[in-house]
Amino acid sequence: MMSDKIRNCPLCGETPESDAGTYTCKNIACYLWGHRIPSRIWNARPVEYRLEADNKRLLDVLSRAYMADIYECAEIIENEMKDKKVGE
Ligand SMILES: [Zn+2]
Repeated sequence: MMSDKIRNCPLCGETPESDAGTYTCKNIACYLWGHRIPSRIWNARPVEYRLEADNKRLLDVLSRAYMADIYECAEIIENEMKDKKVGE
């Protein structure tokens, strides 16, 4: 899920500066300012990836529930909750 595009600072959202394959935050008030971080690490967002996956799954459940009969909605949601505890 990691793209080649360099993402903004994980702490403050500022556009990063690059230097010799490393990235740093250009916001002097940010903790990551001045730290030279390899792109692979700079771009790593494990919590965001998990939340994106959860959101995608929930949207899928909602869209299926929306299209289903009202009595099927509870069954769909119950089955999804059995399959996976949301947020873990
Ligand atoms: Zn920053």
